[in-house]
Amino acid sequence: MAELVQQRCFNHGFREAVARCPGCRRYFCRECVTEHGGRVMCAVCLRQAERPSSLARRGLAGVGWVARGLLGLVLSWFFFYLVGDILLSVPSAWHEGSVWRVRWFDSP
Ligand SMILES: [Zn+2]
Ligand SMILES: [Zn+2]
Repeated sequence: MAELVQQRCFNHGFREAVARCPGCRRYFCRECVTEHGGRVMCAVCLRQAERPSSLARRGLAGVGWVARGLLGLVLSWFFFYLVGDILLSVPSAWHEGSVWRVRWFDSP
């Protein structure tokens, strides 16, 4: 560990390094490293490590968004179609609200 203590942070030359980035093999202080997947990495390597997965996630999310949009459109159309059908077939008392009034709400 003596070697590590003598090292200085790559970004802050006056600070003692506490960790060595496994990606770029440079030494960094506590502020410059981030834990990622059980390993301590510098900001640059962290960005590189996260890029492929985040891109894939964004791609999947984009597909999911389109699918959700289409599904929502179909569902809302179906919903309004059903509601319209129900509203047309229910007795007129429903529209006046007498059916919706809850009993316990009126009683003390
Ligand atoms: Zn690095
Ligand atoms: Zn630093």
